[in-house]
Amino acid sequence: MVRMGLEEVARRMRQAEQSVGRVAGATKLIAVSKSQPAEAVREAYEAGQRDFGENYVQELADKAAQLADLMEIRWHMIGHLQTNKVRQVVGLAQMIQTIDRPRVASEVAKHASAQAQRMAVMIEVNVGGEEQKSGVAVGEVGGLIEVVRSHASLDLRGLMTVPPFDLDVEQTRQVFDELRAVRDAHGGVGQLPELSMGMSHDFEVAIAAGATMVRVGTAIFGARARTV
Ligand SMILES: *Cc1c(COP(=O)(O)O)cnc(C)c1O
Repeated sequence: MVRMGLEEVARRMRQAEQSVGRVAGATKLIAVSKSQPAEAVREAYEAGQRDFGENYVQELADKAAQLADLMEIRWHMIGHLQTNKVRQVVGLAQMIQTIDRPRVASEVAKHASAQAQRMAVMIEVNVGGEEQKSGVAVGEVGGLIEVVRSHASLDLRGLMTVPPFDLDVEQTRQVFDELRAVRDAHGGVGQLPELSMGMSHDFEVAIAAGATMVRVGTAIFGARARTV
């Protein structure tokens, strides 16, 4: 069942790429496995999926331990990050997508350095303004980029956003276009190659707007046991 979900999402991704003239495979799929059992992740891995997103540090730690035999798995932290959990995440994740304030950037840098790692990170941007709870304000992105770049143990890959949930397609498209504009205002694709945007209900819109990563949960795994 997970395999079918993955195949269907991949098919829709290729179709969305093609319909706007993007190269097939230009967008990477992050399978969001929060509140799904480790066995579902294993099933997806066996079907060829390698990148997985988790929102909660403890859940990530539990699953990573249960799936330690999957040598090529890559975990992406996509949930709000508390500074007291940073050390653990740095040891587990291959990418942290939710850097949203200088303090978190410094904390990640400190632990990455202590663990002799260079951590791939994305800055989470609050494009929707005050309706949105997480992410750095658009006007503060430049300052946060400078902070991230000042740490040799951080490898800034791009920008990420989560639009407010109650938007219609047109409003969602505007949010994605704005994230892309923020990227262009800060050096463009050469400086910030990745744009992480789009979820189960809007990943095709995100691909049309230039996403390089979409984060898809329910369209692959089915409904979550609890709402998060
Ligand atoms: C849960 C979550 C997703 C995936 O949501 P679906 O609607 O299940 O595809 C993507 N990104 C973030 C940040 C999430 O919290």
